[in-house]
Amino acid sequence: MGRTYRSRNKKKRQQIFVHSEETNEYIINLKRWMIQRGWENISDLVLANFSTTERGLYSKRKIAENDRIISIPLKLMITFGTIASTSYMLELFNPEDGKLTIHELISIFIVLEHHKNDYSYWKHYFKSLPRRVQIPWICSDDELKLFPSYLQPYVQYRRFKLENSWQNVLNLTNNNWRCSCCKQDGFTLITKEIFEWAYVIVNTRGVYINPNFYQVPNNWPILSDEPNIALCPFLDMFNHSDLANTVASVVNDNYELISLTNYDKYEQIFISYGCHDNLKLFCEYGFFIPGNKLDNVQLNIKNLFNLKLIKLDRRQYNYAKEKAFTEDLFVDFSGPSFNFKGLLFISFNTDYHVWNEVIFNENYSVDDRKKMYEICVLLLEKNLKELTLEMESFENRKSFVSADIFESVSAFTKCRLDFV
Ligand SMILES: [Zn+2]
Repeated sequence: MGRTYRSRNKKKRQQIFVHSEETNEYIINLKRWMIQRGWENISDLVLANFSTTERGLYSKRKIAENDRIISIPLKLMITFGTIASTSYMLELFNPEDGKLTIHELISIFIVLEHHKNDYSYWKHYFKSLPRRVQIPWICSDDELKLFPSYLQPYVQYRRFKLENSWQNVLNLTNNNWRCSCCKQDGFTLITKEIFEWAYVIVNTRGVYINPNFYQVPNNWPILSDEPNIALCPFLDMFNHSDLANTVASVVNDNYELISLTNYDKYEQIFISYGCHDNLKLFCEYGFFIPGNKLDNVQLNIKNLFNLKLIKLDRRQYNYAKEKAFTEDLFVDFSGPSFNFKGLLFISFNTDYHVWNEVIFNENYSVDDRKKMYEICVLLLEKNLKELTLEMESFENRKSFVSADIFESVSAFTKCRLDFV
């Protein structure tokens, strides 16, 4: 991991600007629509294609630390407030049959608004959205079975959540509801295919909004969680970087982002979607960052026992369990995690009197650190071997997987191999 870490330990990665997207008719219309409704492009943001990330945003001027990079009127966003002020959303569902998450509600809202085509207030926003988002959990069951095993539990979990949401929407949809524009029923308008598209759009482009901003009205008994997701036109074209740092807030009915990183003119501006390692980025958003400084190799205690890398007697195990040293076990660029070091130390020492003092002060001896390092090396070597075999076997099954899924999963696994 050391070499990769050094080579990516530059403040920023090279971003080569390829061509502007501002001649794209959808983008021109979107910006015009937003400006007519009170949006001001305060930092002269321009959409362009970049060599590393494809679409992204740059500014025609320098961005200094603490500059506001974008400020979008809430009325241009799709928030819980938008949905709550739409009469048909409450009529569409039977509240006595259950509740829906904010993610599900926004997905349904965009399905129903999207079907109105040119009659929708949001039409220019919808036209700017991708028709298809490449994400590993939009695949068939047969394809999933061929995925490398390290990826399967994550992808399965995301599929399970999507399927749950779909069933939830089906169960709650009111048989008697008819759309006011075309008189079609909910089951005809909300097909699984279009729901999946909308769900992935919300998953990959939704921004966090402080849920306290919205008082959920009493006549809204169908919301099951906090109204903390929103869709934000144009702002959703910023790419994520592990090196970016942004602060979001709502100021005078505008959703604003402040950058805590500075940027040169024409340099791609990034925002932070959160502290995500590559596995999380790939599974949630369908992309990853070579050299992501937050990347790590996750471990689990069962595996460590199976590999005979640690041995604990009852007293050691009980202490580790009680202090939660059996969780959050991983190795990253800085070495073993705090908990993994603690767990290893407990396994090296039967003298329980010293555990608290040494672990919480990270007061490990040179000898302890050396042993920890050796175990990490063994683990990573094992991980590397497994990954190499998985990669080979996935490549042998190329013909059974659709081309774009094959390409994205194998590119991700190669990146994973480089990282380990
Ligand atoms: Zn209709």
